[in-house]
Amino acid sequence: MPDVIVTENISGPAMDSLQQEFQVLWDAMLWKDTDRLEAALAEARAIVVRNQTQVTEELITMSPNLRVIARAGAGLDNVDTEAAARRGVTVVYAPRENSLAVAELALGFMLNLARDITAAHNDTKGGNWNRSQFVGSELSGKTLGLVGFGRIGQMVARRAKAFGMKIIAFDKFLPADAPVVNELEAAMVSFNELLQTADYVSCHVPLLEDTRHLFSVEQFNAMKEGAVFINTSRGEVVDEDALYDALVANSLRAAAIDVRETEPPGPGRFDDLDNVLVTPHIGAFSIEAQQRVVTTVCNDVRAVLTGEDPVSVFV
Ligand code: NAD
Repeated sequence: MPDVIVTENISGPAMDSLQQEFQVLWDAMLWKDTDRLEAALAEARAIVVRNQTQVTEELITMSPNLRVIARAGAGLDNVDTEAAARRGVTVVYAPRENSLAVAELALGFMLNLARDITAAHNDTKGGNWNRSQFVGSELSGKTLGLVGFGRIGQMVARRAKAFGMKIIAFDKFLPADAPVVNELEAAMVSFNELLQTADYVSCHVPLLEDTRHLFSVEQFNAMKEGAVFINTSRGEVVDEDALYDALVANSLRAAAIDVRETEPPGPGRFDDLDNVLVTPHIGAFSIEAQQRVVTTVCNDVRAVLTGEDPVSVFV
């Protein structure tokens, strides 16, 4: 019977090593097969997941030998961390390892939407040469509003500053006199002021009870006419109906969303709109970030199973 079960597509040299050292059941589709998943957990001491596997209290309770839950990624919204703590199961994750990949994607979205690169690309591949149709704008001199000024928000700010953007940020918990605020010459403002002022709004909050639908009708209505909205955090932070309406009404000039309220989303959503870029939750998916993530969680699984101290524990 397996000692470690891997329920999603998590691979790389660190996973190869783990597979040599332990009995590993590796099945990228296991998260979909509840019966096999539960059967495997009857014996396993470790489970390694991405964000599709729902590690619920029920699942944890039916896993008597479970010692460690490893989330290969940053957010822990698919792991019942409280139930794990109650059962004495360690939760390890990789909160820092993919931040840069997400920040670069957010910058990529901004540059793309400023210059309409995807639309120009599609038009030109269609046999056209419509130069005058694609007069964009520059990021330089524009105001970037960051909602959530943690690791990723700060990385985006650092890069956007190099493009000459002015940084404003709203963060419910970061003190306005934190050294990083000064270092990045950011202005900490209220949520409402940010919405009313920013040319680009980029969202970097975790999914929590009070961030679910943080962006809804009222917030999109409050945004500056012609603003651009970017979400690389979690889909449920945004009310997609409200976003859709704001894009149809052109009160938002454009949006880019990497994450969705339901993943994968139902067919057709946003497909009829030209002013939205959609990607399939690829924020963390750079080669470098994935290697860092897999190395961190595999090392920590090994540590827990061999009685060592894991490095990246959720507390
Ligand atoms: P972080 O914890 O470093 O920063 C989040 C910030 O949000 C914190 O400073 C916190 O104080 C702030 N915050 C919390 N609640 C808030 C609220 N209600 N209003 C305003 N600010 C609030 O996290 P991070 O590493 O910067 O990551 C941010 C989020 O990005 C993650 O939680 C995750 O959901 C998402 N993410 C997405 C991908 C992807 O593939 N697209 C990959 C990694 C992370």
